[in-house]
Amino acid sequence: MAFEDSLAFAQSLDKEDPLAHMRQAFHIPRIKYSTEEEVYFCGNSLGLQPKLTSEYLNAELSKWQKLGVKGHFDCEFPWMPYHEFLADESAKLVGAHPSEVVCMNSLTANLHFMMVSFYRPSSKRYKILLEDHAFPSDHYAVESQVRFHGYDPSEAMVLLKPRDGEECLHLEDILSTIDQHADELALIMLPGVQYYTGQVFDMQAITDAAQHHDITVGFDLAHAAGNIEMQLHDWGVDFAAWCTYKYLNSGPGSVAGCFVHEKHHDNPELPRFAGWWGHDKNSRFEMENEFIPIQSAEGWQLSNPPILSLAAIRASLDTIKEAGGIAALRNKSKQLTAYLRFLLHNRLAAHIDIITPDDGLSGCQLSICVNSDNKTGKQVFAAIEAAGVTCDWRAPNVIRVAPVPLYNSYEDCIRFVDILEASL
Ligand SMILES: *Cc1c(COP(=O)(O)O)cnc(C)c1O
Repeated sequence: MAFEDSLAFAQSLDKEDPLAHMRQAFHIPRIKYSTEEEVYFCGNSLGLQPKLTSEYLNAELSKWQKLGVKGHFDCEFPWMPYHEFLADESAKLVGAHPSEVVCMNSLTANLHFMMVSFYRPSSKRYKILLEDHAFPSDHYAVESQVRFHGYDPSEAMVLLKPRDGEECLHLEDILSTIDQHADELALIMLPGVQYYTGQVFDMQAITDAAQHHDITVGFDLAHAAGNIEMQLHDWGVDFAAWCTYKYLNSGPGSVAGCFVHEKHHDNPELPRFAGWWGHDKNSRFEMENEFIPIQSAEGWQLSNPPILSLAAIRASLDTIKEAGGIAALRNKSKQLTAYLRFLLHNRLAAHIDIITPDDGLSGCQLSICVNSDNKTGKQVFAAIEAAGVTCDWRAPNVIRVAPVPLYNSYEDCIRFVDILEASL
């Protein structure tokens, strides 16, 4: 489509947007001391609150008030199987069977629990492939697992570095590194979408390469879940984990998601850190000492989960379902982000660089580096925040902006670029 740089054109795109009404399903923050809505481009960090959320949370509070412990059984959405009500919609987001996903714990905790089962180093194969600049929590998790098994991180962590002067990784470099270290790698752990650059990784090609060499592969989907389409089951990915407070709008610190491929569900050889919520549902309350894992991703659960957080996830999943699911979101997202990219190019090409790759290798986020003699990136970031934009700054050098298809508009893109232009 031929874009135009004008408010009228942006508004015409909003008029034709089949998801435009979804903005009304969210609470949009207002600019301080004003009734005007912010340009909220921060769904990659904390998604906004769906209007369904308080209704669903209140329903659980009310059940607790009226039923006490009986809320586990005799009511609509009983707490005992509550996590099961999230499985179908969570599975659709990542391209899984419902038995392969479960909402539990937090993201970093899930990465650890997954590595307990799927990082099984031997004297010959003990290395983990990850990015040189992985999200710090992921780096710490991998490093501490490596140490826990008695290996030296400087030797056991194979770090993927971008080419000199570049920010993003080339698929061919990832694949050749896998080939080069094939005999020593026990695990590959990479993001689905890179948090700093917004680059989408070719999870299918990476998984194919891993399987070719019999290497286990897991993905951190923090920036992928609710952002791009995936087919974890068909690709044969071994495990994945994601948080639900970014593109999944389930509230700060909400319970995370986890995927374990079906091929691992009935493998008694897999080590795991067990808890009673992972035990066979039929005999869980017989309180015996022999652990019998549920033969699904649920078998990795430890504890009975925080229902209030799961209720918020259910509200968000129902909101996404109402919008038509991840395919509908991605469809709008491609055009919305392309429009923002067009505006930035059209007006600000001399002052900024967008490090997020084009050609289908991005989700909704664009990562912007400021390229100006009079102002640093951080000063520009402070100025746009003061003018009513919420987005985020990531050291060392990037302003991350994420127009999300559920609640952002084409008009938001124009307002953002107006403010950024004025701030430069
Ligand atoms: C957001 C994010 C995290 C956050 O981890 P928590 O355990 O949810 O605090 C971890 N890794 C990546 C790649 C992220 O983007």
